[in-house]
Amino acid sequence: MAGPRILLVEDEASIAEPFAKLLQREGFEALVAPTAARAFELFERMPPALVLLDLNLPDGDGRDIARELRQRSNVPIIMLTARGTETDRIVGLEIGADDYVVKPFSSAEVIARIRAVLRRVSDGAADADAPGEPVVVDGLTVDPAARRVILDGEEVALSRKEFDLLLELARRAGQVVTREQLMTRVWDENWFGSTKTLDVHIGWLRRKLGDDAGEPRFIETVRGVGFRFAAPDGSAGP
Ligand code: CA
Repeated sequence: MAGPRILLVEDEASIAEPFAKLLQREGFEALVAPTAARAFELFERMPPALVLLDLNLPDGDGRDIARELRQRSNVPIIMLTARGTETDRIVGLEIGADDYVVKPFSSAEVIARIRAVLRRVSDGAADADAPGEPVVVDGLTVDPAARRVILDGEEVALSRKEFDLLLELARRAGQVVTREQLMTRVWDENWFGSTKTLDVHIGWLRRKLGDDAGEPRFIETVRGVGFRFAAPDGSAGP
């Protein structure tokens, strides 16, 4: 029985072929698309559980493909990038990729990332069965069941990570949530290294909520520790 279907979008046969074989050995069903056009065709015809997406393709830029996929579905996306700069990684995450791997990568590393992302998505789906009540704070409603955010009567579009982060903070409104807790709950229980990703996502979240880090309405930085969300009755904060 084939396991989760993985769509590998990669034009270099020397990478795609051995990696597709490896995926199959690891129990996944592997589809390979060497072009963006083929990727969209396969995506519609045989919806994958996860997309592994190369940044450089003959007929398109992986980031544009990720944006397009994100508009069509919530399928988890892992970017494969040869460009190791911080900017490219952040751009990859900003457009809604769930994770990224820098080439040259080890097969074991990518398999581990795939399993981690699929596990987080399925944990999220399990949570959605018992999502809990909406959290309402000072004009902001975070609804875990619908995964919607309403601010002063207007819907706010958030990426999956931004939503998860906001929900973690809002559910503990009035309390300090440490950086480590957020990394564990929103990213990976086995996260390691820098928490820069967290700061980047907090920045995006503040921008989308129109929140000012200097005079926060919602998200207060607790220096050296983590973050505190305004208390539900609006009593916290300035
Ligand atoms: Ca390529």
